[in-house]
Amino acid sequence: MAVHTVVLIPGDGIGPEITDAVLAVLEAAGAQIEWVRHQAGITALETSGEVLPADTLEAIEHHGVALKGPCTTPVGEGFSSVNVQLRKTFDLYAAVRPVRSLPGVKTRYEDVDLIIIRENTEGLYSGVENEVTPGVVMSMKVATENGCERIAKWAFRFATQRQREKITVFHKANIMKMTDGLFLRSAEYTHRHDYPNIEYTSAIIDAGCMRLVQDPSQFDVLLLENLYGDVISDLCAGLVGGLGVVPGANYGEKEAIFEAVHGSAPDIAGKNIANPLALLMSAVMMLNYLAETTEDNSLLDVAARIREAYDEALQAGEKTRDLGGNLGTAEFAQAVIKRI
Ligand code: NAD
Repeated sequence: MAVHTVVLIPGDGIGPEITDAVLAVLEAAGAQIEWVRHQAGITALETSGEVLPADTLEAIEHHGVALKGPCTTPVGEGFSSVNVQLRKTFDLYAAVRPVRSLPGVKTRYEDVDLIIIRENTEGLYSGVENEVTPGVVMSMKVATENGCERIAKWAFRFATQRQREKITVFHKANIMKMTDGLFLRSAEYTHRHDYPNIEYTSAIIDAGCMRLVQDPSQFDVLLLENLYGDVISDLCAGLVGGLGVVPGANYGEKEAIFEAVHGSAPDIAGKNIANPLALLMSAVMMLNYLAETTEDNSLLDVAARIREAYDEALQAGEKTRDLGGNLGTAEFAQAVIKRI
């Protein structure tokens, strides 16, 4: 089995403790990974004076794959978000967040199986904000033809490869006729010209949200611009048990960064109560990605065994507090490890 090199960024808040739990599970499952540790976020700011040091960026560029814990974004002027910076630096334009009902995690719904695809570089995350005149501030929402077309193509290709049946775009093109209009038209065009075999629908986002909470099973793959994708990801997390169970991947043409959807959860940091599952699921996505890109099929087996082990642990009621259980972060990792 080949050894793969992956950049590891433990991050802030609950980041280090959930990272330790995930590393323990991956090691127990026999994943042959050499971790190259680098810092980002407040932890990096304290040691190097920067939230995103150059050596962290160089390592990601060099190795191409990173597993990242959440990073705190200091509120206030002068600090831009580490996550936004990373996505822009490596042009990680496609964020993928699978959201599924889990065994043993009871919610209002039993059959949620959604994949959220979020455009990660444009929209209101342009970073262009101005004070037009005292008392009037403005943020610029940006959409480009290139940005809208490439995420539409990415989403339809992904849906085809994963044998998903339907893509739905949530938008507000009735109001934002130019930006959301471009996003919507790009998806429609890609469907009609390149992927007519996949069902395609669209919904105005407010009505779409209502339909999501009424019956999420009517949706399959959701394609969204940046801010809508951010908000809908948390909404969908709520359908399946919360932020502790939704993983994520950010893909560009060359680099890929895997991280949970949740943040650094400063309210529970350092208490050994955070759920490491979302980061563990992100690591499973990473193993599958490495298997695909390096043709090391043994990683597929490692990924499948981890997934089965955490499903079994949940089914047996071995869960962290956010899911109604009573295990700590490290204890949940042990519950998974003993089933591998
Ligand atoms: P958050 O996701 O950190 O926390 C929201 C709520 O969910 C909190 O009550 C928290 O305790 C809970 N929660 C989150 N993850 C959990 C887990 N694994 N197990 C159990 N409970 C969990 O969101 P926030 O409080 O809005 O943000 C805190 C910080 O994280 C901010 O600085 C924000 O900018 C940052 N953030 C970072 C990322 C990232 O690095 N990808 C993503 C979102 C937010």
